[in-house]
Amino acid sequence: MRILIISDIHANLEGMEACLAAAPAHELVLNLGDIVGYGASPNEVTERARKLGRHFVRGNHDKACTGVSGVDGFNPVAGLAALWTMKELTPENLEFLKALPQGPAKVEGLENVQLVHGSPLDEDEYIIVQRDAYEPLAKAAAAITFFGHTHIQGGFSASPDGQWGTIRPIYKSKDKLETFELQLAAGTKYLLNPGSTGQPRDGDPRAAFLAYDTEKSAITFHRVPYDIKAAQKRIFDAKLPDRLALRLADGR
Ligand code: ZN
Repeated sequence: MRILIISDIHANLEGMEACLAAAPAHELVLNLGDIVGYGASPNEVTERARKLGRHFVRGNHDKACTGVSGVDGFNPVAGLAALWTMKELTPENLEFLKALPQGPAKVEGLENVQLVHGSPLDEDEYIIVQRDAYEPLAKAAAAITFFGHTHIQGGFSASPDGQWGTIRPIYKSKDKLETFELQLAAGTKYLLNPGSTGQPRDGDPRAAFLAYDTEKSAITFHRVPYDIKAAQKRIFDAKLPDRLALRLADGR
């Protein structure tokens, strides 16, 4: 089966559309949460995401933007965007986001895979560096855990002979459509992050996602240029904090 994994769309319609347009043929879409928050197209991306499939886990912004959690842990800019999003969402979209399941989630027919937003041990935890990955990998209930939350494309691995590794895709540019292949090794456990579709923070402003071919045991990380100026204009027009628009150009 060929699967798309997307995460952290953050109400960026232009980023999302560019990723879907660049995506290879696939039979399934898995969504790792933070569909909304930060960006200015919460209804459009929620409706688009709902049409893509039924496999989701909720993100911290999905919770904050729908009242499942408060905005207390958020910085002022994120909090403001969450409150704006809550007002902007249609009742139907709000109910959908509110009902998103907590990870880890399993996918029928994919016994070796689980989905989480942050960590398999805590949905709101960030796995940023290799040290953060030790416990989640050691305790992971599946060979492959797809995670998001950090907006950093790549991941971590633990091989049966005790070798730990960090996976960071290498690209030639920061403005062209590019892919990076990773062949999965049998018996090795992986934590894999598709990166953020709507607000990359790994210094690469291109929208990010990954494709997983189960028959080939192959992961293809993608980076996709998109109309950043259009996404920024929507944020300015919505009178959301400027910072949310400006950071898109830097991928920070
Ligand atoms: Zn996020």
